[in-house]
Amino acid sequence: MRLIVRSSSIHAAGVFTLDRIPQDTLVVEYTGTRMKHDDADELYNERPYTYLFGVGDGTYVIDGFSMAMYLNHSCAPNCETEEDEDERVWIRATRDIEPGEELVYDYFLYDGEGPAPCSCGAPECRGTMYSPKELRKRARAKAKKRAKAAGRKKAAGKSSGRRAAR
Ligand SMILES: [Zn+2]
Repeated sequence: MRLIVRSSSIHAAGVFTLDRIPQDTLVVEYTGTRMKHDDADELYNERPYTYLFGVGDGTYVIDGFSMAMYLNHSCAPNCETEEDEDERVWIRATRDIEPGEELVYDYFLYDGEGPAPCSCGAPECRGTMYSPKELRKRARAKAKKRAKAAGRKKAAGKSSGRRAAR
């Protein structure tokens, strides 16, 4: 199937299909350099945006460089990611996708820094690319912090996180 990268109303560039994609098709592999997430954090410390793909137990991440890294996040996705037994990550169509549609999946960001606002425009948009699980975790941590009333501020304006397969 033919995929193209072009400007997207969601964010910067996105991936669009020129052909109809039947549900459950493995569309494209999320390929890239694999590295330990600690090394990636060090490598990209100065970069404003880094969204790496966490695989396995989260020790390793994929630093994407192929078509798949251009897929945007949406809270109402038409694709999802899945990891096979070899810890390879694939983008799978969760419904039939028509020619001209943008391919999107839910990033389920976790373990990130700074805000990761979502602009997918879906009615069910949760306003952020962080996963519901991560949001609950943060809410708990925030409550704890407030209870402690410690005043250490984090640097603002930086955004990073890891994508998770569902
Ligand atoms: Zn959204």
